Amino acid sequence: MLHQPKSDYQIAQKKILDSIIRGEFEIDNRKNLGPLIPIRLFQVLRMVALGANVEDMLGDGAPALVYHSGQGLGQVLGQAVMEQSDKNFEAYVGQIEQLCKKLSIGLLIPETIDMKAGVFELRVDECVSCAGIDGVTSPICHFEAGMVGGIFKTFFDTNVKAKETKCNALGDDTCLIHVNLK
Ligand SMILES: [Zn+2]
Repeated sequence: MLHQPKSDYQIAQKKILDSIIRGEFEIDNRKNLGPLIPIRLFQVLRMVALGANVEDMLGDGAPALVYHSGQGLGQVLGQAVMEQSDKNFEAYVGQIEQLCKKLSIGLLIPETIDMKAGVFELRVDECVSCAGIDGVTSPICHFEAGMVGGIFKTFFDTNVKAKETKCNALGDDTCLIHVNLK
């Protein structure tokens, strides 16, 4: 699925993504601590390492990089599910929902499906990135927006614009991702 790894990060990436695709969530070398981590640790990686720290280096370009990372994951998940869903959109989204629940990313719930217009809206309830965060001034789940974009990009094999229009961290009751097929 992925190209032959060239760097150590790419070797690690391949190992991680391959095991997600195979549905293997057990982890070696964690006999005592097990495979789960507190959400706050994930949020350190997401909002600090892949957020504030990237912003230090890239400024306004940070959200685009975060979106791109999420899109990559969405495409990998999409490709993994595509083969089993027989190109049926509902089956595809249903399997993606299951996978996102299993990975504890959030509860994906389609709100709008307009195939003709190529416009979709997906809720991400209990979003892992922004749960327990408030007081922000604009939506902050660019990773999830990218992930949803990647999921649609893979299914429809076209360019996709995905944007978060509601966010838990803004005080909304969900993170809503608006998707536009181009
Ligand atoms: Zn959000």
